[in-house]
Amino acid sequence: MKRIALFPGSFDPFTIGHEEIVRRALPLFDNIIVAIGYNSAKQGYFSLEKRINWIKDIFKDENKIIVDAYEGLTADYCVVKNAKFILRGLRTAADFEYERAIAQMNKMLKHDIETVFLLTKPEHSPISSTIVREIIRYGGDASQFVPKEIDLLK
Ligand code: ADP
Repeated sequence: MKRIALFPGSFDPFTIGHEEIVRRALPLFDNIIVAIGYNSAKQGYFSLEKRINWIKDIFKDENKIIVDAYEGLTADYCVVKNAKFILRGLRTAADFEYERAIAQMNKMLKHDIETVFLLTKPEHSPISSTIVREIIRYGGDASQFVPKEIDLLK
């Protein structure tokens, strides 16, 4: 059976921290689905289409990676995709506390799904999509925090 992992997130926008987690997880899985969780009633900062296209472009040479979007419960979406693993990145103790609760509740919802955590590189731990958006909102240059395929001005 194929080892399929879901890497869920808002990715609004995708950062070099996200990219590094996915690349480091590649040897662990046959496929990684980078899945943008969205809420049709709530607009993101960047359109869903833009976020999807950016991530596809970043991983265009990596045939193990699939890019997708979903609405609803992550655990349900894992079942649809036959993903037995959820991949998440950890930056800080605050991330750990937040992620712990989600992972434990997901496990209660779907017993056969394991969440796998990778620790971020030290230099990536301050990088967050929220701060990238703040920089852009106030006219700053956030390009060093996102993969080169992402042109934040477009
Ligand atoms: P969510 O809205 O689900 O928190 P994010 O797009 O913010 O989605 O993050 C998706 C995943 O990537 C989460 O597990 C988050 O902890 C992780 N992550 C975010 N930024 C980084 C980073 N700089 N380094 C490593 N992991 C990160």
